[in-house]
Amino acid sequence: MKHGIADTDVLVVVDVQNDFCPGGNLPVPHGEEVVPTINELGQRFRHVVLTQDWHPPDHRSFASSHPGRQAFQSIELPYGPQVLWPDHCVQGTAGAQFHAGLQLLRAELILRKGYRRDIDSYSAFYENDHTTPTGLAGYLRERGLTRVFLAGLAFDFCVRFSAEDARRGGFEVVVVEDACRGIDMDGSVAETQQALQSLGVACTPAEAIR
Ligand SMILES: [Zn+2]
Repeated sequence: MKHGIADTDVLVVVDVQNDFCPGGNLPVPHGEEVVPTINELGQRFRHVVLTQDWHPPDHRSFASSHPGRQAFQSIELPYGPQVLWPDHCVQGTAGAQFHAGLQLLRAELILRKGYRRDIDSYSAFYENDHTTPTGLAGYLRERGLTRVFLAGLAFDFCVRFSAEDARRGGFEVVVVEDACRGIDMDGSVAETQQALQSLGVACTPAEAIR
């Protein structure tokens, strides 16, 4: 299926930051491979938004904030289960910067998320309590942008949560599958593919978007 790009479409590029690429603190395998595809997509869309994971140094999602715990363990926080991660995307660090190869000069908004110490935010739309909005839905609505194309890192976490929230929020959603890479913890990539399908989120290769 081909997707023609309309003026009401927006490309949301999720967390293409140094720490999520090889050499970073929380590398998504082959994460850097999304960069050329996203750059090319960015030329085709009239509207582009970037998200940037942006944590204080003592963020609650960091294993280092929980003595005796290890990275990639899951714990219960007041808002539900939370995977503990290595320290990553700390505000102002090189790891939090966008990948140097990313060239999206026309991006209209950089949305930062995860800046509250006690709550993580995988999704570009809601923090991990699923009730605190980031403001992105309001921004898109006010601008008349109704269909969200998602690309970036990681497919099975921040892209997945963003897609689910966008869909529930009434947006049409398309995930550009070859412009994403996943972490794949305990089958999370396959689980994500199923979840997206059941929500009616289209997954498509970049070449089908014109
Ligand atoms: Zn994070």
